[in-house]
Amino acid sequence: MSVSEVNRALPPGSVIGILGGGQLGRMLAVSATQLGYNCHIYAPEENSVAAGVAQHFTCAAYDDTAALEAFARACDVITYEFENVPVECAKIVARHVPLRPGYKALEVAQDRAEEKEFARASGGVTADFALVGSEDELRAAAAEIGLPAILKTNRFGYDGKGQVRLKSADDIAAAWHAVAGQPCVLEGFVDFAAEFSVILARALDGTIATYDSAENVHENGILALSTVPASDAVLRQIPAARDIAAKIAQRLDYVGVLTCEFFVGTGGPVLNEIAPRVHNSGHWSMEGAVASQFENHIRGVCGLPLGSTALTGTRAEMRNIIGDAANDWANYLADPDCHLHLYGKGEPREGRKMGHATWVAK
Ligand code: AMP
Repeated sequence: MSVSEVNRALPPGSVIGILGGGQLGRMLAVSATQLGYNCHIYAPEENSVAAGVAQHFTCAAYDDTAALEAFARACDVITYEFENVPVECAKIVARHVPLRPGYKALEVAQDRAEEKEFARASGGVTADFALVGSEDELRAAAAEIGLPAILKTNRFGYDGKGQVRLKSADDIAAAWHAVAGQPCVLEGFVDFAAEFSVILARALDGTIATYDSAENVHENGILALSTVPASDAVLRQIPAARDIAAKIAQRLDYVGVLTCEFFVGTGGPVLNEIAPRVHNSGHWSMEGAVASQFENHIRGVCGLPLGSTALTGTRAEMRNIIGDAANDWANYLADPDCHLHLYGKGEPREGRKMGHATWVAK
């Protein structure tokens, strides 16, 4: 991008609206502020950790049309930091101001069945799946897909929530009871060797920059550890996974940071999830890459050229700090090589992401 093209981007001092008030919004706001932008957080929770570091805050429900319209009029561009922003809410603000990425990415990511169909239409491979709406349909799907399998609520699942593993047909009744009759997908169990993510940033002009893929280890369905570079098993599947992620971004006419989570399958990468946002498995990029995922998302949505995704060292490791582990903050700080990030959340509840720590080897 030439300097004159950069000059047509949103200038520093502009207001970036962020729908969602969690730690991802917080880290986006810090990056935006560093580049001279102001952020306006829109979130229903009063004690938003993103609002704590932003210049403006609207505390209102996602279905409060008047509040959304006033918010949109106060912003120069709007983005979102989580995929469960109601699509209607996104459409309301998009009538007044550019919404980047657009609401199509939300529609795809909010619905596991649609997500898998979209991934397949983009050339990706997913687990076998079937939509189920009753215990009888679950029984039929289990017979068709085979067990073991995982029952996931079709909407509003994250960090392993809304998921039940079925080992045998004896588990069917209890599994259906556990999801309380919500519409679900039954997903075939993928016998994977490792998990990894492809995180890319797409600029307004369609340019794509991709981060080195982190190898991810989950514990109890929650990300525990991300390491870059990944193991050889992952590295072999990265080119194919990148092609799929880029195709998904292009088909969505995506702007900003997009994450695709993959399993290392026996025949190639198997796409698990599309997250239309910055992602926990990319937090290492804050110190481990020249421009972090947060900076590149802000650059993308403001129409700026992307920063380099190159590694700053030879290896980066990110560990999540979950629940009570946040009480060990002094131990992290006693390590002079540790970059500690705490999200400013009050109560260290079980399973709650409180912060993360990163180490980068030169
Ligand atoms: P999700 O919320 O769909 O990202 O799932 C959380 C974690 O559960 C994944 O990161 C995997 O470790 C595991 N998991 C989810 N779906 C499957 C599957 N179809 N086969 C095997 N493991 C899975």
